[in-house]
Amino acid sequence: MDKYIVVQKFGGSSVANIDRIKAVAKRIVESKTKNNHLVVVVSAMGDTTDEIEEMAYAVSKNPPEREMDMLMSTGEQISCALLAIAVKELGHKAISFTGNQVGIRTDKSHTKARIETISGQRIHQALAEGKIVIVAGYQGVTEDNDITTLGRGGSDLTAVALAQALKARVCEIFTDVEGVYTTDPRIVPSAKKIKTITFDEMLEMASLGAQVMQARSIEVAKKYNIPIHVRSSFSKEEGTMIVETTDKIESIAVTGITSNTKEAKITICAVPDQPGIAAQIFTEVSKTGAVVDTIVQNVSHTKLTDISFTVPKNELAKALTAAKKIARKINAGEVLHDKNIARVSVVGSGMRAHHGIAAKMFQTLAKNKINIDMISTSEISISCIIKETEAANAVKALHKVFELERI
Ligand code: ASP
Ligand code: MG
Repeated sequence: MDKYIVVQKFGGSSVANIDRIKAVAKRIVESKTKNNHLVVVVSAMGDTTDEIEEMAYAVSKNPPEREMDMLMSTGEQISCALLAIAVKELGHKAISFTGNQVGIRTDKSHTKARIETISGQRIHQALAEGKIVIVAGYQGVTEDNDITTLGRGGSDLTAVALAQALKARVCEIFTDVEGVYTTDPRIVPSAKKIKTITFDEMLEMASLGAQVMQARSIEVAKKYNIPIHVRSSFSKEEGTMIVETTDKIESIAVTGITSNTKEAKITICAVPDQPGIAAQIFTEVSKTGAVVDTIVQNVSHTKLTDISFTVPKNELAKALTAAKKIARKINAGEVLHDKNIARVSVVGSGMRAHHGIAAKMFQTLAKNKINIDMISTSEISISCIIKETEAANAVKALHKVFELERI
């Protein structure tokens, strides 16, 4: 039988300690003996990345990004070397590589670099020698040989990009949950594992708060049509397949529900309603690098209007400073902010064909006396910004109304 390449990625919790690393070693040796060429990508052990990041912030409030990449990339170097040692201990051939060694070339945007090319030459060579190849996730190198990282959760991206570059048959993402669920099972214990989900739905869910996979990695998987299997590293159960289209006979309207409490809201009051004002505000905010999400502007009857928008909580401080500065300049009123918000979203490709989903969502929130602060929609999702304390209730109610337990 012809050998084909499989890429497997193990997340931080799957390699959190020595026993787990040994267990992963056993599992990948089993996969390899099924006549595969095996390329394994690992994350840093457990919370290592958070811990080393904290050390940097203990040294400086504003650590230089190049040095952050030098530092943050070390976690994966430890786990990939230990895993290679563990595989060899089992009597099998393995070799560990950094991003640099396998030729993952990125642009120069430190801490959120984009992959430009992957040479993969050393991988092919090692596979030909019968070795299991173990690659440190989340990192690459610039043309000047500076180490870069691919944004938090970036090992997923390493795995998907390698699967593309190596023309792998499948990319398996091993994690601490059984797959992708209709919603967070910690909020709704009756949430169901989804068997197959489309790239579009998964991308939407990941961007809106589902934490199973890094959103950027799904974008790449979609672009190159690389099937992904998200599954548990602690069981042999099949997980969730992420694919181009699913073959549901009659597509259901809503596939999943997400909630995200990582955003904050800024409101600039009494903004003069005239051309160019929004442009000025968001130009000022974007200069800070803060990523703006939902924006709401009211129709004005008085030539003054309020503009609200959301930003990630960890970018609130700088966005707020910028908003206050521009508010003064354009003679607007007060600038308010609110950290206690949540975005609750319903997602499903079936929305394209079904109507009344928004109405049903709003009715459900109304019945539960949950006030909607902001609304935004895409072709396959509807999001409401509500109070953070009401997020869990909203998710529970929506999960029930859209009958996701029955999937
Ligand atoms: N270790 C990195 C992080 O925690 C990358 C990853 O886990 O995918 O973000
Ligand atoms: Mg991680």
